[in-house]
Amino acid sequence: MSKLLDIRNLRVYYYTRYGVVKAVDGVSLEMEKGENLGVAGESGSGKSTLALSILRLIREPGKIVSGKILFNGEDLLKKSEEEMRKIRGARISMIFQDPTSSLNPVYTIGDQIGEAISLHQFNVEGGLLDWFLAKFKRSYVREVEDKVKEALSLVGVSDPSKRMKEYPHQFSGGMRQRAMIAMAISCRPDLLIADEPTTNLDVTIQAQILDLMNHLQEEFDVSIMLISHNLGVLSEFCHKIAIMYAGNLLELSDTETLFEDPKHPYTEALLQSIPRFGFKGKRLSTIPGKPPSLINPPLGCKFHPRCKYRIDGVCNKIPPPLIELDSGIKVACHRYLEECQ
Ligand code: SF4
Repeated sequence: MSKLLDIRNLRVYYYTRYGVVKAVDGVSLEMEKGENLGVAGESGSGKSTLALSILRLIREPGKIVSGKILFNGEDLLKKSEEEMRKIRGARISMIFQDPTSSLNPVYTIGDQIGEAISLHQFNVEGGLLDWFLAKFKRSYVREVEDKVKEALSLVGVSDPSKRMKEYPHQFSGGMRQRAMIAMAISCRPDLLIADEPTTNLDVTIQAQILDLMNHLQEEFDVSIMLISHNLGVLSEFCHKIAIMYAGNLLELSDTETLFEDPKHPYTEALLQSIPRFGFKGKRLSTIPGKPPSLINPPLGCKFHPRCKYRIDGVCNKIPPPLIELDSGIKVACHRYLEECQ
């Protein structure tokens, strides 16, 4: 496998009137071609900011302060806005958490999927309105519409010729998410970023959407970055999982090892807090304390106030570097440094 994504020491800060929020604070991670990577962590751990940075969608008061985002070897942070427009939706697509707020209520589903296709495959610039107006005069309209129908069929929307003329409010929650996926894969991207794509859906629809993404991954060889706070969902879908906490990457491991032998104390605590069969009548473990402030995080390891393994005098003073173990697993914890053993 070759490297598709290589994020190096990325820092993304939000400059608020209360102080600088270090949402992503020195994250490095890699993704191979054809690989599914899960990104997990509590709310505020920096998962979504990381995803938005890859597409360069961080808006004021946020700023990508430093680092590199190499996509197929090219640094996305050095691209112009015009170059990024050609990458977004064509080579890297994103599915957002809430399809209701991501879809435009005044355009049909077909228009919205057609916009991405017309921009990236037929060079119609100017956005949704231009595509909408172009429909009345351009010869390629039939071709775009055929591709819209094909995309809707691929994601399991029946009678696509009829349904592409409907508006988002005429679709159920699960169907809206399918439409978002159709839009995201319509131009056959290399990387699909799915930010909590199943959070607002019931369990049956969740399973259908994950099955669908699995199927699309196999069919089109697209790599998927799946962001979720639900480790159960990630375990079913991902080859590797990255655990984030307070803007830092704490562990990057293959899925099986992460569940069987977690290395970082935070990962261990997270796994112990998942309900399992046989737990009936027992209390679930919880992680004491709460996530730290991202404006004034604790010195040293940001997890140290909650960590039962902390080494006083070290963990509360020195931030642990991300190190690679012999097994290839990456972990940021002083316990794995020789001088602390
Ligand atoms: Fe715990 Fe120290 Fe490791 Fe942080 S560096 S997770 S405080 S043992």
